[in-house]
Amino acid sequence: MSTRWQNWAGIESAVATSVVQPRDLAEICKAVNDATESDQTIRARGSGHSFTAVAAAHGVAIDLSAWTGITTADVGTGLVTVRSGTTIRSLNAALDGLGLAMTNLGDIDAQTISGAISTGTHGTGAAFGGIATQVVGLELVLADGSVVNCSADERPELFAAAKVGLGALGVISTVTLKTEPSFVLAADERPEPLEQVIEALDHNCVTNDHFEFYWFPYGNKALTKRNNRLPAGTEPKPLGPVRRFYEYEVMENAALGLLCRLGRRIPRFVKPLNKLTSAVLSPRSYSDISHRVFVTSRSVHFVESEYAIPRESLGSVLAELRAKVPTLPDPVILPVEIRVAAADDVWLSTAYGRDSAYIAIHQYVGMPFRQYFDLFESIAGTVGGRPHWGKLHTLNAANLRERYPRFDDFTRVRAQVDPAGRFANPYTERVLGSAR
Ligand SMILES: Cc1cc2nc3c(=O)[nH]c(=O)nc-3n(C[C@H](O)[C@H](O)[C@H](O)COP(=O)(O)OP(=O)(O)OC[C@H]3O[C@@H](n4cnc5c(N)ncnc54)[C@H](O)[C@@H]3O)c2cc1C
Repeated sequence: MSTRWQNWAGIESAVATSVVQPRDLAEICKAVNDATESDQTIRARGSGHSFTAVAAAHGVAIDLSAWTGITTADVGTGLVTVRSGTTIRSLNAALDGLGLAMTNLGDIDAQTISGAISTGTHGTGAAFGGIATQVVGLELVLADGSVVNCSADERPELFAAAKVGLGALGVISTVTLKTEPSFVLAADERPEPLEQVIEALDHNCVTNDHFEFYWFPYGNKALTKRNNRLPAGTEPKPLGPVRRFYEYEVMENAALGLLCRLGRRIPRFVKPLNKLTSAVLSPRSYSDISHRVFVTSRSVHFVESEYAIPRESLGSVLAELRAKVPTLPDPVILPVEIRVAAADDVWLSTAYGRDSAYIAIHQYVGMPFRQYFDLFESIAGTVGGRPHWGKLHTLNAANLRERYPRFDDFTRVRAQVDPAGRFANPYTERVLGSAR
């Protein structure tokens, strides 16, 4: 196992002093106790899909890829306990086998379940929360080597903090999820005028279970996606394998990758390419089991920033972004993605206490992005935007304290369970403040 780690986007790296690969709970506890004895920091690694250095381990790194799989499942209640290193992809496959499904998911399934919840990973749906809101219990190994369980009834403050805990409170050993019976989603995707989509946002959010849209900067079209739950027992009508391969692998990955490489090499081509891509968007409808609709494959590597803003501010934020992006010195080649989520009560969730809209901006790897991301950050800041913990931003603890009503509660719990900063890294020190 390599001590050198790099994230998916290739923009963050770290070298750990050692890597341990526990195969049982006792080995996770031993790793934490050994780190304490040698006075080193220790952090769990997920799949490395955060764009920030949140997962970087400079002391001991815990690789949980041998600590996977479901430990208990109750099909009647939908309660499923899973080991923390399990990827969402293998979790979905195992749930399929039990006739169960996650209520809502993000765009990809490569993340580990614990990595996904730790940064507040979310999908879309005005009545649905992020993945952490589907968690009903956690088992954690704390800095003193003890194993604790937490839930709404047992150590509720630790639970409210640790669901989106940035790896800063302990090592999650298992996650208990409230799943639901498998369901089929009907997907309806089509290009529509951007103005119309923004105007009808509230309507689209309440009349669809999972609504989102993409907008290519410089274009005036949005690609809308409406995913709606079908009644139990509905037979899915998926895209045929050839069309699926052509649309997802060829058009959305291979062709997009080609256009990105061309745009990176000849930046003046970006705006016309962007308009062309926006003009050739075509509609498609199909239905499939939920995770095959929620999840897409992403082989084009990019960098990303995402802010959660109050839902009612979406129109004004997008209008400002739309007006200012064309004035940037460097062109933007990848689309903006807009999603929504219901308010929740997880202390460091980006949707804590407010119905939220998420705006995610992207740039192809190797193309200049700093000015674009800074512009976006300043616009999102005017409406109290909260950055996704796993996506690029420059905020620090002082800024974030103002945007999270329970920030001080989080740091209080952190000081109780990790007084020596055993689980700290430079990113957590920046965004949460010094642990010691
Ligand atoms: C292509 C792509 C698509 C994406 N799509 C979405 C999306 O649709 N929605 C969204 O919200 N985000 C999305 N993301 C962001 C991604 O979901 C998050 O950054 C997520 O945290 C990555 O999970 P991971 O397993 O790779 O964790 P890592 O990035 O490796 O780690 C994340 C954090 O989890 C901690 N951690 C991991 N395991 C444990 C454990 N056992 N105990 C305690 N802490 C632990 C790590 O220490 C770190 O702090 C996307 C990212 C990429 C690259």
